[in-house]
Amino acid sequence: MSAVLPAPPALESPPLAWSNRFRRLGERFFTALNAQPLREPHWVAISEPCARALGLPDDWWCRDAWQALGVFSGGALWPGMRSLASVYSGHQFGAWAGQLGDGRALWLGEVDTPAGPQEIQIKGSGLTPYSRMGDGRAVLRSSIREFLCSEAMHHLGVPTTRALCVTGSPLPVRREEIETAAVVTRVAPSFIRFGHFEHFTHTADDVDALRQLADFVIDSHYPACRDAPQPYAALLEAVTRRTADLMAHWQAVGFCHGVMNTDNLSILGLTIDYGPYGFLDAFDPGHVCNHSDHQGRYAYARQPNVAFWNLHALAQALLPLLTDGDEALAALESYKSFFPQALESRMRSKLGLTGEHAGDRELIDGLLQRMAQDKADFSITFRRLAEFSTAAGADNHAVRDLFLDREAFDGWAAHYRERLLAVGSVDAARRLAMNQVNPKFVLRNHLAEVAIRQARGGDFSEVQRLLKVLQRPFDEQSEQSAYADFPPDWAQHIEVSCSS
Ligand code: AMP
Ligand code: MG
Repeated sequence: MSAVLPAPPALESPPLAWSNRFRRLGERFFTALNAQPLREPHWVAISEPCARALGLPDDWWCRDAWQALGVFSGGALWPGMRSLASVYSGHQFGAWAGQLGDGRALWLGEVDTPAGPQEIQIKGSGLTPYSRMGDGRAVLRSSIREFLCSEAMHHLGVPTTRALCVTGSPLPVRREEIETAAVVTRVAPSFIRFGHFEHFTHTADDVDALRQLADFVIDSHYPACRDAPQPYAALLEAVTRRTADLMAHWQAVGFCHGVMNTDNLSILGLTIDYGPYGFLDAFDPGHVCNHSDHQGRYAYARQPNVAFWNLHALAQALLPLLTDGDEALAALESYKSFFPQALESRMRSKLGLTGEHAGDRELIDGLLQRMAQDKADFSITFRRLAEFSTAAGADNHAVRDLFLDREAFDGWAAHYRERLLAVGSVDAARRLAMNQVNPKFVLRNHLAEVAIRQARGGDFSEVQRLLKVLQRPFDEQSEQSAYADFPPDWAQHIEVSCSS
């Protein structure tokens, strides 16, 4: 196993300041070990904005002395980096799964940036003590999907882990067929999951470590909780709110995660672990993006309830630090008001509704119902709704044409027009505001698929091109309109599963 490999040689590195606080928690929380480097690594993709956010200079990836290609394919460490795999447990598809952990990811360190400390992690870097039956690898296809979506979500304004780069290798990896290995580098203020807490309560039965972890998360990420009368209850409530906010983001942008197990929920309320995710094309509340999710447990419309279920699992894990179950339930209670409010506020903005009126929820639901009925495309409908004209007699055909039942749409549109006129909404100003919240470009499966197919043939230019488009999802970018189009028929047959 890689634990016995000699330490990779230290290199010259960019001038980064490493704080590595997670590592100071001690060895109950991780196993220190080196990666199994990808052989003959090559660059696949780089996110310049992510590199800039880390404080790296433009040529960070190609300076000979820094050997970034080696570092981000598991073959070297910059001075200050100390690699480790963390241990966690979790509930998968509603059942207790016991110990899991970073089975193919390694934490490389935490670097100070102008936006605060950021941890760097490589994924697909070989076996760890937590690999269980896995091979410790990630395939090129899934690494590109994680890379593109992390950056797309960031630029959509959705809380998420980010991605710095992808490196690839000719190393064969067996999935349904033989593919090749890749490593994606992720960046986040923390990669701690609900499952880290579950681990110390249910698997390790170590309340001392549980408290240490909770204190670490409070001090590093939720300092305001320290001053609360019950800091751990305050932490649970703060995580509840962040998670509710994340769910409002996902639902409003039409994002399905696909594997909302407790080991895939971030303690910071970030989108984490991009696997068989998907953005909605034709609106179907029951849409299941994960081909292996036969029960539809993680269907689009269920995500907010699943998040609440997961928060209960987190609360259960925190019980040894809380006064009693009632304190836990009280902290969770805020989800019930906070999530609907957060979602309604996002949906109101998506419809361009200013102020709060009594019939708003009905108006929002009415539109969603018609979209579901007629399988209207989620992103295109909202983008076209921005063109809605309140002028008398306007037929608003651009958005109207998306609906099969035009009369039903007209009925809804009459109410919508009334609501807009009641607050003196000005068409041009509303359009501008709506286009700031309704993306023109989202990472539809077929777009990722085209980029992946080309990448598997050795041409990575489409990954980079798509990344550029997704970095400005709200801008018109007229010359890129093909990326904003309806999915082609073949997109319906794309199957994404946990096998990655
Ligand atoms: P996921 O649902 O993909 O987030 O993964 C669940 C657990 O399985 C995590 O502990 C992963 O680290 C682990 N895992 C997934 N794929 C592999 C793999 N190919 N090799 C080793 N561990 C893996
Ligand atoms: Mg995971």
